[in-house]
This record gives sequence, structure tokens and C-alpha cells, in this order.
Amino acid sequence: MIAGNWKMNMTPTQAKDLIEAMKPAIGKAKWCDIVLCVPFTDIQAAVKAAKGSRISVGAQNMHEEEKGAYTGEISAAMLIDSGVRYVIIGHSERREYFGETDEKVNRKAAAAVAAGLRPIICVGESLDQRETGVTIEHIRMQIKAAVKDLTERDLKKVIFAYEPIWAIGTGRTATSEQADEVCREIRACLRELYGARAARAVSILYGGSMNAKNAESLLAMPDVDGGLIGGASLKAEDFAAIVNAANQ
Ligand code: PEP
Repeated sequence: MIAGNWKMNMTPTQAKDLIEAMKPAIGKAKWCDIVLCVPFTDIQAAVKAAKGSRISVGAQNMHEEEKGAYTGEISAAMLIDSGVRYVIIGHSERREYFGETDEKVNRKAAAAVAAGLRPIICVGESLDQRETGVTIEHIRMQIKAAVKDLTERDLKKVIFAYEPIWAIGTGRTATSEQADEVCREIRACLRELYGARAARAVSILYGGSMNAKNAESLLAMPDVDGGLIGGASLKAEDFAAIVNAANQ
């Protein structure tokens, strides 16, 4: 899977234009799922523009409750009814700027799966944690907390993204070996919780300054099943180049 995260970029008009520009460029990619996680206000335009193409539309967040007095929030049912199939959960920017805890991530992931969405659960360490040597412990803790009470059947709907915080939007990409090591640990952790078959079937993406130049070597790693792309998903050519690298 190659998933784009547009963050707080693109008006509906720009979203339509960007998707129209992407469609011919990624037209031949058959071997990976392509998802664009767009701002809520772009969903309608994105779904319309992506119709008939291999692009699915995702959201970048959702509320964990089904409905109610949560001013300014969006539910899973609202997303599904708007044509959304995927939702990013627990992106480090939401954890950092909006106080999303591991417990909240777990509740959102469970609500997404229950409603029929496929959550893309993000985990990742800070630079400080990497330099202190606690990356793996931290990631394992985030994974275990995120999937608490999810069944093996639920897990089939879940996608994971390893996104080292120090690599997001910084131009400083993890080496292919660093990315693969952590993705392998995520799979090992899932194997302990759900067994080998379930862990093998899960898709684990790498995210953090992935671009047209480094995508091929990152995606060639055995435990890296795809990419979550921020900045480079805002340019049709760059995103298409990453999708095409995934199809090699
Ligand atoms: C992201 O925000 O998920 C991300 C990977 O961003 P970037 O590719 O810009 O580092």
C-alpha cells in the first residue's frame, strides 16, 4: 500500500486538480493499494475525482464515539457515508499537538474497525527515544496499547505505519535497515499477540520523508509493505513515482 497524508493542505478545488493530475501518472500501477488521506472538507471532491481510478480516499482522524455532543468532531459512520474507506489513527502530530493518548488511539481504532473502516495506526519514536536506545520498547508498547481487545478478525482490517517522529517532514529518512528493523519488530509483537499467520498477513508501512528517490530501497525491505507519504503526496509526479516504485 502507498498512502498519502495531505495533512492540512489542499482546498477541495486543489484536491480535485491534484487527483486529476495523479490519475494518468499512476494508471498502470496494479500491485499496490493507493490511498489518499485528505482533510475532511476535501473528502467529497476527492471521492468524486478518484471515481473509476485505483485511488481510495481516506481520512486523517475520526472521533471514537458513534455520535453525540462532540462539537467539531467527525464519526466513522459520517466518513463511510461520504465514501471513505481508510482512516489514519494516532499520527504523531495528533499525539503531540492534540494530546491523543495510546488509550484514545485504541478506542478510535476499535471504533473504526467496528464501523467498517480500515484504520492506519501510526507508531513511532522521538529522536530522544532513539538516542536513548528505547525505540523497540516504545514501539512495542504503542502497538500493544493500540490493539488492546482487538480480535484476530479485527486485526485483518488494520494497517500499521512505522513513522519515526524525527523523520517526519524533516527530510531525514530512516535508513532502509532502520525502517525494516522496526517493521520486523512490529510484526514480531503482533505474532506474539495473534500468531504467525495473522502477523504475516498484516501490512506494515514506513513513513517519514519517503520520496521518489528513496522509495525503491525502503520498499524493497522484507518487512516494509508500503509507505505513508506526507510532503511527497502533494505533488502528482512525486507520488506517482513512489507508487511506481512500489510496483517494481
Ligand atoms: C507523515 O506525516 O505521515 C509523513 C510521513 O510525512 P513526510 O513524508 O512529509 O515526512
